[in-house]
Amino acid sequence: MNLSKSLYTRGLQCPKSLWLKKNNKEVLTDLEDTTVFEVGNKVGVLACKLFPSGKEIPYNGTTFEEKINLTKKYLKEGVKNIYEATFSFENIIIMIDVLHVNDDGSLEINEVKSSTEVKEIYLHDASIQYYVLNGLGFNVQKTNIVHINNNYVREEELEIEKLFSIINVTVEIKKLEENISSILQNFKTFLDKGEPDIDIGEHCSKPYDCDAMEYCWKTLRNIPEYSVFNISRLSKKRKFGFYQRGILDIKDIPDSEKFSASQMIQIQSDKTNSSIINKRGIKEFLNTLTYPIYHLDFETFQQAIPEWKGVKPYMQIPFQYSLHIEHEDGIVDHKEFLAKEGLDPRHELAKKLIKDIPSYVTVLAYNMGFEKSVIRKLAETYPDLNVKLMAIHDNIKDLMTSFANKDYYTPTMKGSYSIKYVLPALVPEMENAYKELEYVQNGGDAMQVFPSLSEIKDEEERKNLRKALLEYCKLDTLAMVKVLEKLKESVR
Ligand code: SF4
Repeated sequence: MNLSKSLYTRGLQCPKSLWLKKNNKEVLTDLEDTTVFEVGNKVGVLACKLFPSGKEIPYNGTTFEEKINLTKKYLKEGVKNIYEATFSFENIIIMIDVLHVNDDGSLEINEVKSSTEVKEIYLHDASIQYYVLNGLGFNVQKTNIVHINNNYVREEELEIEKLFSIINVTVEIKKLEENISSILQNFKTFLDKGEPDIDIGEHCSKPYDCDAMEYCWKTLRNIPEYSVFNISRLSKKRKFGFYQRGILDIKDIPDSEKFSASQMIQIQSDKTNSSIINKRGIKEFLNTLTYPIYHLDFETFQQAIPEWKGVKPYMQIPFQYSLHIEHEDGIVDHKEFLAKEGLDPRHELAKKLIKDIPSYVTVLAYNMGFEKSVIRKLAETYPDLNVKLMAIHDNIKDLMTSFANKDYYTPTMKGSYSIKYVLPALVPEMENAYKELEYVQNGGDAMQVFPSLSEIKDEEERKNLRKALLEYCKLDTLAMVKVLEKLKESVR
């Protein structure tokens, strides 16, 4: 049984997933997010500076045997910090992010994570490293999880000691290590036989979304695209309860089952295949709006390692907005902002925003919590703009209200009130408008494209990408105008 750290944690989540990885890889879906991977790499490289003057075991161009031998050599030479130190014990290969050697020869394991907290799975990840070193006879004094400190606010210079938190998890690791032998024995029992007959369950997405879901859920268990698992805000326990009773189609749920009012709307709408529209609720929301209405949408991105003063790790940094201004007579104007790449965009954006939006007008956002938190953060950062920014903040209304309350619900919304489902349900022609966009078709694309602009040398390419960003964001607020139009029509 050959294992690595990641195979070990995979097996902990589900032994069937480990079996599939080893024996039927073809059924697994590639879920690797390259952006997350790149961030992890950058964070890993920076964290090495906390343990300076070390030697790295190169990942590319060396076999595992060579990596192990080089690690031994560095240990013998008295190197104090070894990055990607590699060991093998009982056919388990581990690579330690940073191995620190104390003056008395004892060792310290440092597992670097780009997240902002110690998750339980990280302890398991580190415990297998401890198990291997312990098994090889090393004296491991300490095990740390090194993660990003999201309370850190960058000043002029990046201070890596403040950017990272080093958490001593030695006690927890030692406790976990006691069970590893029996866990490995259990894996072996599974791996020695044919494909394990493990049913789907909450473990399929805990702690990670399993890459065998397509196979286990769809191919083996015939779970349809839309099923009891899509009932809005229903506990996992109840969802799996229906599954265990053989109820997958929402239409097959017995009428005697109790649900919240909102869930009942979804279920009734499915059972009768009809839309449910509560005109009173919609009117109540529409009555809160006054003209002109400023439809606002931000695009943001995040930095694990803050590049500018005043930025915290992973905070939402707005770089773009689109504004459709809808007047009572039906005329719609458009304004927009897209920051210059490579510079801190926040101040310019905030200045333009208060110029574009007067203080006491209705501002509409879809899922306003996001827009409000971005504006609040800008107001805190720029005291000179605070009053005007907070006036915009305080006047934001949420276009999502009628959908979140299920005052307007159609079966095509599939239990969701995200704009991704609401828009095609209300304005089907706009769904294609997004698909026809070049380069940027969703917020995730925008989030990746903007920070990449500063590295693009070709001016034409940069221009095209900037145009794509503007077109995408503009479509978002235009979609809001259209959704509001449909809402108004529904109560006429
Ligand atoms: S989808 Fe679920 S049951 Fe299938 S391998 Fe993954 S975790 Fe196990």
